[in-house]
Amino acid sequence: MSLVGKVALVTGAGQGIGRAIALRLAKDGADIALGDINSQKIEEVAAEIVALGRRATTYVVDVSKLDQVVAAVDHTYAQLGGFDIMVNNAGIAQISPLLEVTPEQVERVLSINIQGVIWGIQAAGKKLKSLNQRGKIINACSIAGHEGFALLGVYSATKFAVRALTQAAAKELASSGITVNSYCPGVVGTDMWVEIDKRMAEITGAEVGATYKKYVEGIALGRAETPEDVAGFVSYLAGPDADYMTGQSPMIDGGMVYR
Ligand code: NAD
Repeated sequence: MSLVGKVALVTGAGQGIGRAIALRLAKDGADIALGDINSQKIEEVAAEIVALGRRATTYVVDVSKLDQVVAAVDHTYAQLGGFDIMVNNAGIAQISPLLEVTPEQVERVLSINIQGVIWGIQAAGKKLKSLNQRGKIINACSIAGHEGFALLGVYSATKFAVRALTQAAAKELASSGITVNSYCPGVVGTDMWVEIDKRMAEITGAEVGATYKKYVEGIALGRAETPEDVAGFVSYLAGPDADYMTGQSPMIDGGMVYR
C-alpha cells in the first residue's frame, strides 16, 4: 500500500493496460481519476475501483486536445483533493507500410501518441509546480520506442518520440522534484493487438491470429504479456522505490528487445 494518500490520473483507462494500471494503483492505495474518450468504459472501471474501497472519478478526455487534458487534471484535483501521479497511457496503433501511409493517418497517430504525451506532461507539470509539490509523470512507450518494427514504422516513430520527451521532461522538471519515466511493454494481449494482428493479416496475407502467434513465440519467457504485467511495473514507477529514477524508458516485455 505504498500509494496511500496519493491521487493518480490515468488516461486511456477504459480498457487494456490503462484499466489494469488504474486498478493496480488503487490496490496500492491511491485514489484514481480515469480519463478516456469512452465514457461508458471508464464508468465501469470506476465502479471496480470504488469496490476496492478507493475513491474514483471519471473525465471524458481526448488527449490530443491540450484544453481537454488541462481540464482533466483540474477535474482530478477538484474532485479528489490532490494530484500526485500522471499516467499518460492513452495511445493508438497505426499499421501500414511506410510506402502507403497517408498524411491523415500520420497526423492522427502523431496527435494522440506524441501530442497527447506532450499535453499530459505540460498539464501535469504545471499543476504540480503550481501546488509546489513533488510528483511523478509516467508515459506509455513501447519496445517499438527502442526498435522500429516493419508495418509499424509511424507507430514506432511516435514511441521513439515518447522516449525523447521522457528524457527532456525529466531534465526540465527534476529541479521541481518531478520525475518522468516511461514503460515499454512488448506484446500485450489487448484490443490493440487484435487490431494489429487483423491489419497485418490484411497486408501480408497471413491468417488472422498468425502474426500475434509469431510475435508471442519470439518472447523469451514463453507467453504473451498481460496488462497486469505492465501495471506491476507502473506501480513501481509510481511508488517511493522509484524516487531516484528519472528519464528512463525500460522494457517490460518478457525478453524481446534487449538494450
Ligand atoms: P487499447 O486499445 O486496448 O486501449 C486504449 C485506450 O485508450 C482505450 O480505452 C481507448 O478508448 C483510449 N483512447 C484512445 N484514443 C484516445 C484519446 N485520443 N484520448 C483518450 N483516450 C483514448 O490499448 P492498450 O493495449 O491498452 O495500450 C495502452 C498504451 O500502451 C498505448 O499507449 C499503447 O501504445 C501502449 N502499448 C501497448 C502495447 C500492446 O501490446 N498492447 C505494447 C506496447 C505499448
